[in-house]
Amino acid sequence: MIFAICASLFSCNKEERSDNPFLNKTYDTPFEVPPFEKIKAEHYMPAYLKGMEEQRKEIKDIITNSEEPTFENTIKAYDYSGQLLTKVARVFGSLNSANTNDTLQKINRELSPLMSKHRDDISLNDSLFQRVKSVYENRDKFKLTVEEKKVLDETYKSFVRNGAALSPEDKDKLRKINEELSMLSVQFGENLLAETNGYKLIIDNENDLSGLPENIISQAAAMGKSLKMEGKWVFTLQVPSMTPFLQYSDRRDLREKLFTGYFMKGDNDNERDNKAIVAKITNLRIERSKLLGYKSYADFALERNMAKTPEKVFEFLGQVWAAATPVAKAEVAAQQELINKEGGKFKLEPWDWWYYTDKIKREKYNLSDEITRPYFMIDNVMEGMFYVANRLYGLSFTKRTDIPKYHPDVNTFEVTREGKHVGILMIDNYPRPSKRGGAWCGAYRGQSRDIKGKMITPVVTMVTNSTPPTADKPALLTADEASTLFHEFGHALHQLLSNSTYPGVSGTSVPRDFVELPSQIMEHWVLEPEVLKVYAKHYQTGEIIPSDIVDKLDKAGKFNTGFVTVEYLAAALLDMEYHALTEPQEIDVRAFEKTAMDKYGLIAEIKPRYRSTYFNHIWAGGYSAGYYSYIWCEILDADAFQAFKETGDIFNKEVAAKFEKEILSKGGTRDPLEMYIAFRGKEPGIDALLINRGLK
Ligand SMILES: [Zn+2]
Repeated sequence: MIFAICASLFSCNKEERSDNPFLNKTYDTPFEVPPFEKIKAEHYMPAYLKGMEEQRKEIKDIITNSEEPTFENTIKAYDYSGQLLTKVARVFGSLNSANTNDTLQKINRELSPLMSKHRDDISLNDSLFQRVKSVYENRDKFKLTVEEKKVLDETYKSFVRNGAALSPEDKDKLRKINEELSMLSVQFGENLLAETNGYKLIIDNENDLSGLPENIISQAAAMGKSLKMEGKWVFTLQVPSMTPFLQYSDRRDLREKLFTGYFMKGDNDNERDNKAIVAKITNLRIERSKLLGYKSYADFALERNMAKTPEKVFEFLGQVWAAATPVAKAEVAAQQELINKEGGKFKLEPWDWWYYTDKIKREKYNLSDEITRPYFMIDNVMEGMFYVANRLYGLSFTKRTDIPKYHPDVNTFEVTREGKHVGILMIDNYPRPSKRGGAWCGAYRGQSRDIKGKMITPVVTMVTNSTPPTADKPALLTADEASTLFHEFGHALHQLLSNSTYPGVSGTSVPRDFVELPSQIMEHWVLEPEVLKVYAKHYQTGEIIPSDIVDKLDKAGKFNTGFVTVEYLAAALLDMEYHALTEPQEIDVRAFEKTAMDKYGLIAEIKPRYRSTYFNHIWAGGYSAGYYSYIWCEILDADAFQAFKETGDIFNKEVAAKFEKEILSKGGTRDPLEMYIAFRGKEPGIDALLINRGLK
């Protein structure tokens, strides 16, 4: 007897640790951050397979439960199922975006159809759906909290939207479409990364560097060196390399060459061409939506968003387009005037835009990125955003060097409030061939409570492609890049301050056209004089940014907004044009794009911010029929920031507390408009947005 007790105690205490870190109950690391250095490529597939197996068993337990379906035994059990799968998928997905390689890409190609099948096996499982439906239809009988009602609603609707109510034949059709779509998205992303890495503008004659500032030249030299082209200068399609070249290079022919490399990404009729993929995805999405009873993909996608219908989105985008186009045309005229004055006998082209607007900006405001860069050293900018979060929410950020990281560029911070652990934040800032373009925020672990109600704190990751340091200088950012950091940091705060129970509605699980509110509102603080004075210090002298530069930044804030708005809206409209199609059809991507842009009268001097063949957001990034969200959310963030401004204190604690309580902490537990009104007391109008952009 005694012996037996000992034996069982022994086996309880000593959990058998697997070599595969995913298969252990807990990670053996501080704050249970994934043990990146122990995770090997060969660990993913077995963990995924085990995760799928576990979830299949959990689902089987729900279905075979002999009791009547309840919230507890069906919805809650379902919401908490698949934890191992989530655990491995969060790591794999994040790393495949931020630090991929051939092996991970190969695994992703193998996984994609398996995961598509696994998801469909669950969402098309009729026994499971009947239980979910029963709870949904009897929802008034259960005493549910607001959050539980939302979980139930989301779960039921997601089953229906994923085809649970279809006939068996239609379910089969849907499975095939889903599998094909998931593979096409993977291919699109791989092609785009290869196309971005594949192009280089190599300069070997110093004269061809005319106009470029010294720091941009040394950045290009460092790039040459890293590519074993010592003594040459290399420019890439990465924004921190390309944009300064377009801004400063006096060589119009080279600007054209580089920019053409950029806007032809995925459209070069080679093995990495994305046109056929774009056409296929579009048509499959139409088929899928029709199968589910919707007129178009946009009707399907928007139903659960704030906007609700494509008509509403088109109408809204049209309003802003009408306000922005005349401003962009005036910007063209001003640039053409300068070209003529300088004796240039040519018409302004898209690759000239950065060059001439920069000249005008220097002339008009005596301001350029090179004047401000020294004050935007990346570490200082991060100090600035931490400062804002501290003033608003009382959060503190402490750098930790004892926490595993997946790449040497990653900086890790512990986030606390009043000494209490809130979460972990990883920040990964510089471009590299293993990272996709753009900037984003994700989580290696989302906030929620475990099934017993114990708080699970988040492990958040922020990834950008910012100007890197050079041999003799730290990373010095443009004001735009500083703003991007604040933006992603806003997403991070949304995850860090999330305070919900159910994994399914926690963190940033809000509609696409609401999720940019927490991020975009943070952009309002970045150039506020009160904030600049704290963080914008000269990287060499430590001198605080002079007030005349602050004034200039303020005055130049509305400069070039016609362009910024129009190039963005063009992409948002292109997205909507593809997704509002109601019948599958032969799509010639170049012709489709041209017709769509001509319809709105996009001026020839501006290209859409993303052309179809490199529009990762909509073909692989979850923003399909959703790229409009950024400007839609700007109605909210411009108005929400006014709530601070109106008090005369941009750090007003009461407003911040309300923003946290009603919006940041709520995750997806409530309807977005309800959350907004709870914060602000009223629905916002479009005016704050137009004023914010200098369009009114
Ligand atoms: Zn964002």
